[in-house]
Amino acid sequence: MGTLLLTCPHCGGQKMAFRILYNWKSPRHELERWSAGICAGCHGGVLLLMYLVRNFDPTNYEGDLSQHAVIRKSWPDAPKTEAPAYTPDLVADVFVQARKALAIDAPDAAGAMARKTLERATHVLDSSFGPGDRLHTRLDKLAAAQKIT
Ligand SMILES: [Zn+2]
Repeated sequence: MGTLLLTCPHCGGQKMAFRILYNWKSPRHELERWSAGICAGCHGGVLLLMYLVRNFDPTNYEGDLSQHAVIRKSWPDAPKTEAPAYTPDLVADVFVQARKALAIDAPDAAGAMARKTLERATHVLDSSFGPGDRLHTRLDKLAAAQKIT
């Protein structure tokens, strides 16, 4: 059974082995395949649209399919964990941790890192804030100064 290494949209695991359990030819092209795969970690499923480099059955292939197939689309999408490009590095570091925690269904860790993201972002907007300034006070002051809406 062929496998592909993907980021799992369900457990958030990076480079998880997905076994291709089922596939069918697309009516659009002989080498285009729809495939259903299962994560080796959480057993969550994905639907893939891929192109094969030659005509073969991915479910009868043994081993890594990455050299034999190009994935065009996958559903559901893997969670996005990167920060927007304009995010300051100091804020992006904790933002990414919050997104990764959310992706693996760790809401307490995600909440803690999201709060830290806000604390660092408020500090970027007003460097006079210190560790003793509470988050709601920071947000109220930034709103009053019209630095946030
Ligand atoms: Zn998974």
